[in-house]
Amino acid sequence: MTTVATRARPVEDPATGHVLREVADLSADDVAAIAARARAAQPGWGAAGIAARATVMTRARRWLMANTDGFLETICAETGKTRDDAQLELTVQAQSFAFWAGHAKRYLADERTRSRSPIAFGRRVIVRYEPIGLVGVIGPWNYPLVNAFGDCVPALMAGNAVILKPSEVTPLTALLVEEMLSDCGLPADIFTVATGAGPTGEAVVDKVDYVMFTGSTRTGRAVMQRAAASMTPVSLEMGGKDPMIVCADADLDRAANTAVFSGLCNSGQVCISIERIYVEAPVYQEFLAKVTAKVQSLRQGPPAGAGAVEVGAITYAPQLEIIERHVEDARKKGASVLVGGSRLNGPGRFYEPTVLVDVDHAMSCMTEETFGPTLPIMRVGDVSEAIELANDSQYGLQASVFTRDLEKGEAIARKLQCGAVCVNDAQVNFTVFDAPMGGWKSSGLGSRHGASGIRKYCRTQTVLLTGLAPKRDLHQFPYSALRSRLIGTAVRRLYGR
Ligand code: NAD
Repeated sequence: MTTVATRARPVEDPATGHVLREVADLSADDVAAIAARARAAQPGWGAAGIAARATVMTRARRWLMANTDGFLETICAETGKTRDDAQLELTVQAQSFAFWAGHAKRYLADERTRSRSPIAFGRRVIVRYEPIGLVGVIGPWNYPLVNAFGDCVPALMAGNAVILKPSEVTPLTALLVEEMLSDCGLPADIFTVATGAGPTGEAVVDKVDYVMFTGSTRTGRAVMQRAAASMTPVSLEMGGKDPMIVCADADLDRAANTAVFSGLCNSGQVCISIERIYVEAPVYQEFLAKVTAKVQSLRQGPPAGAGAVEVGAITYAPQLEIIERHVEDARKKGASVLVGGSRLNGPGRFYEPTVLVDVDHAMSCMTEETFGPTLPIMRVGDVSEAIELANDSQYGLQASVFTRDLEKGEAIARKLQCGAVCVNDAQVNFTVFDAPMGGWKSSGLGSRHGASGIRKYCRTQTVLLTGLAPKRDLHQFPYSALRSRLIGTAVRRLYGR
């Protein structure tokens, strides 16, 4: 990148508090220059065709797998997550490269049909997809590879140029990705990382043809408002408060293992983390005993080698204050802390894996996104109460239901107001790239993955082909009373039955 930034910003290791290095804090002029170069380069990439683009993504997949140590070290260093949590990012990213390289052709192929419209009867119709041009991807700090760069892959496969604005907290992984794609033969200026904070993100919104945003609901709203000025389309993947429902007939060991993993992996800093649990009264005590024992056995600390610790650091300093505020608010309002409940003394930022009980919806730990290693567990009288409480939220990202009766599980799923529900599982739908993943309510707009996950980065064009045809159609000028009556009668016969 030839841009000379005037300012720099430190990147910190949250597990030690040390500054890793400084990166450029790009101005609006810097972003405008990147956008101009990207626009100049994009037509060539768009014309290269899907097979050529897939070749670059396949090379990138191999590059990623050949350089796992470099990626793992960078991700762990700037997030403070465990080595195993970082490995999960690599696994999903490799899968993403393979999926989009293999499926883009099918999703973006021309769709051909014949019209059954009475006015355009028999005409050949083609729906085709053109790259939208320049896509801006703005990402969060919790998954710097998968949630920031991950959404760039379908945008690139569709033939677009991309500017990635990673979180100012975790820009180093994105810079490594830039190096990787350049090594893999991606033409210059097709993918550029624009490092910086909110103002850099605003400049990206101003300069692109489409914004793919992942982050907090508050920032998502600001992005949408800003994009409205230029009528730039946006896709928003935002916060969540995912509920888990444990029915009396559930496999309690599986439910407890999933609750502990999906609530506390990545220190709970996962948009689709289990953030609140509702348990039917007859199995409440047994479930609680299992969860408590598992949480007590977790090891916490800086990311050492693979398998060294289960729970890592809190990546972003202000998040630690939110977690503390939620636990204190719960304590004040009558909740009990069965495990954890405090931040650890430095160096580094750590909050103990925590189990809260005697919680209710008057407490912020049950209604606001905590984004930390906390598991608030609430006893409910029956499944109906659990569904009502699960839906009592401004968020609607995902949910989990545990029951041995799959039909019952599906029936509960259909009553939950969110973008995805896993029955006897949690989070794993994220790796099902064939199915859309997106939030309802304040959790999102649009979705990633599946056909819509790549078509959103395209302009859609309908081409209607009229071959053999009379010199003048029935509905064309000049109008006549007789033809008007005939058309009226035909329409009444067709639609009046
Ligand atoms: P954030 O909203 O603070 O920041 C996200 C990104 O937006 C960062 O790159 C930031 O620099 C940028 N930004 C900030 N102000 C901006 C502005 N005015 N215009 C343009 N860009 C701006 O979010 P965060 O704290 O980095 O991430 C945590 C949040 O992300 C959580 O709420 C989490 O649930 C959510 N998240 C959602 C998903 C999902 O798929 N739904 C995935 C991961 C994270």
